[in-house]
Amino acid sequence: MQAFIDHARTFRRRAAQDSDAFGRLAAGQNPQALFITCSDSRIIPSAVTGARPGDLFEMRTAGNIVPPYRPHVPSAEAATIEYAVEVLGIADIVVCGHSHCGAVGAVVRGDDLTGVPAVRDWLADGTALTPGREASHDLARPVQRHVLDQVQKLRTHPSVARRADEGRLGLHAWFYEVHTGAVLTHRPGIDAFLPL
Ligand SMILES: [Zn+2]
Repeated sequence: MQAFIDHARTFRRRAAQDSDAFGRLAAGQNPQALFITCSDSRIIPSAVTGARPGDLFEMRTAGNIVPPYRPHVPSAEAATIEYAVEVLGIADIVVCGHSHCGAVGAVVRGDDLTGVPAVRDWLADGTALTPGREASHDLARPVQRHVLDQVQKLRTHPSVARRADEGRLGLHAWFYEVHTGAVLTHRPGIDAFLPL
């Protein structure tokens, strides 16, 4: 933790070297995309995309799960998505799954999650995967299917469905390899994940 504190203490000095760009952030944000990914520490969206402060609106959940829209049920995820689409007017949403995902791995391996009931219930509610299938080391296939499922659930959110149907919102399914840095994207025409 101490290294993080030391870095944070001196961050203002480094920000001052780019004071024009940081200063403009006081006027508001105008992010281009909502980036939804796993809470996994091995994924750094700004490092992967080159996004600068103000460029990416982010939502991170265990297993990059996007809950379906449930009217009148308070939801951090629903609020984040709605704000990004309706207020910020983002033009694209990326759902980015990743190799070696602990959440997806737990489901396909059928791990005993009784000791972490919040995790168990979140995964049970948020994944359509079944245990015992394709539990390969990197989990590429189940994660990719899982990502496509989350993109479909994005469409249950009224703001997403409307803007996507109007052609004003792009929906993207990405797969990131934590051990190589490679990024694959789903090509709907051939229903396959290929390098960006
Ligand atoms: Zn993960």
